[in-house]
Amino acid sequence: MAKKKLFIASAVITVGELATQLNLPVTRLISELFKNGIVATVNQWLDLETAQIIIDELNLDVELEKSSAADSALASKHDRVYDDTATKRPPVVAVMGHVDHGKTSLMDVILDAKVASGEAGGITQHISAHQTIYKGLPITLLDTPGHEAFSALRQHGAALTDIVIIVVAADDGVKPQTIEAIKFARQAHAKIVVAINKMDKPGADSNRVKQQLATEHELTPEEWGGNTVMVEVSAKTKEGIDKLLDMVLLVSDLEDLKASDTDAAEGLVIEARMQQGQGVVVSLLVENGILTPGSYLVAGGTYGKVRTLLDDMGKPLAKAGPSRPATVIGFKKLPKFGERFVAFSNEKQARQKSEQYSMQHREEVSSQNMSSSELLDIMTKRKEKQSVNIVLKADVQGSLTSVADSLRMLENDELSMKVVGSGVGDVTENDIRLAAGSHAIIYGFNVQLPPAVKRLAQREKVTIRIFSIIYELIDDAVSVLNELLSPELVEKELGELVVKGVFRTTKNEIVCGGQVTKGKVQPGVLIRIWRGKEQLSEADVISVQRQQQEVKEVFEGEMCGLQLKTKTKLLMEEGDRIEFFTREFIKRTL
Ligand code: GDP
Repeated sequence: MAKKKLFIASAVITVGELATQLNLPVTRLISELFKNGIVATVNQWLDLETAQIIIDELNLDVELEKSSAADSALASKHDRVYDDTATKRPPVVAVMGHVDHGKTSLMDVILDAKVASGEAGGITQHISAHQTIYKGLPITLLDTPGHEAFSALRQHGAALTDIVIIVVAADDGVKPQTIEAIKFARQAHAKIVVAINKMDKPGADSNRVKQQLATEHELTPEEWGGNTVMVEVSAKTKEGIDKLLDMVLLVSDLEDLKASDTDAAEGLVIEARMQQGQGVVVSLLVENGILTPGSYLVAGGTYGKVRTLLDDMGKPLAKAGPSRPATVIGFKKLPKFGERFVAFSNEKQARQKSEQYSMQHREEVSSQNMSSSELLDIMTKRKEKQSVNIVLKADVQGSLTSVADSLRMLENDELSMKVVGSGVGDVTENDIRLAAGSHAIIYGFNVQLPPAVKRLAQREKVTIRIFSIIYELIDDAVSVLNELLSPELVEKELGELVVKGVFRTTKNEIVCGGQVTKGKVQPGVLIRIWRGKEQLSEADVISVQRQQQEVKEVFEGEMCGLQLKTKTKLLMEEGDRIEFFTREFIKRTL
């Protein structure tokens, strides 16, 4: 039997990630490594060779292969196994928890009110990163204000989160987003530290919180013989905050976090925006190496010189080492949120790398020029709001509301998600009928699909997607919506020509000549014909000639002949101006 191939994007993989990919308990992998003389933790990096040996030892029919599409420089932060020269790096800590349990207040206290309260309002994809110094040691904190940011962090930033502080209000207990945060932390193989907040409130009951976490979520506090650090705090009175930070540093010490502080910098884009007067402003989190002003950065299809390097407070930085959040001014175009960046010492290398990336990732629906009627069709379709019908099932009311809310957040002017039916409990035959009748997709969260219901769904051709992790469900819904997004129309100007003579005019054809006054002229593209300020028509360029020879392009300053295809008879005159352009549809994503 052929071995199953598992494609890995970089030359190394963490023990935790490998366990996930192999669908094995991480403890099994760790004990197998131990048998082979390797003492490893979940966050330890293995090279693919070692990983393959362990897979073979486990008698699994799996062959690891480095994904060829992955550009080794851009694929992963840890494209190396750290050697003895690697040094200790600060922990990257995400603060997560249910809404109103005090995440922002806690961040404010930890960062000494550096984060303006209310700043993170609204649900955005933005994750902000800050660094604080506690007892002389830096701690990097990620602020993830909402579901969307959670999901974004899971997609792109999971690997960089070392510790998750789960904030639970002592007067409210464990809530749906607390559970999500726990799941996120486990998926990211991050260490969990629980902050039981609002201990100053009269209704505070930390025992109840501990009980809930221990009995329902397998997080047992150390004082009950477990291994989860839980600290009682109050963001209001600041009680317990020092102990919480002591614990974060202790956990971080035990994790033995390392990175190189001599390599060229690499890391993750955590925010990118246009700012008046400054251009593209990008927030980055350095994961490895040292970032300095003057170096060149590539992030996906864009690159730029680090003109200005600032810290999270906007103060100039001479260098940014591992785990350091930094702001860079100097990118040519906006990189995408979550994209990896890599530093290069010269511009040529950086430009080539980003161009190569753009070539590989160009997502064009069609590169052909559209006729006006096709265009009209698409433009009209675009105006109609597209809608996806959904039947939603979840295990408990709390998660049902939470999933429905998260789905609603995906809506925009063009796309809507309509929940045509929802309920608590497993997927039933009634759900299938409802979905079939309304062309809906069934999304299930933590529910079962009985075999008889599954058969009915297959007969009725109803799509059912069941998840136990909210982010995965949301990601799936995003991909469904992306399919519906109409493509974006992009026009690209090529050049201009002034007509010097008209040689032939028939019903659908013009043969004329002129001088290129701007850019270039080429066959197979579209033109607009102008007389003064009036646009006469659009037409197609059939061929371009220079000195009686057909040519592929003619540049500014040169004379050429044109054969044009028009829709109706058009009397062109000397002095008319022709604008050359292409029209393409580019696939968009949410
Ligand atoms: P978030 O939604 O998790 O970021 O929660 P916030 O930090 O915005 O806090 C929600 C509310 O709880 C605010 O009114 C805070 O003033 C209040 N709050 C936060 N922490 C404490 C605390 O330790 N004690 C008390 N009494 N109130 C708190």
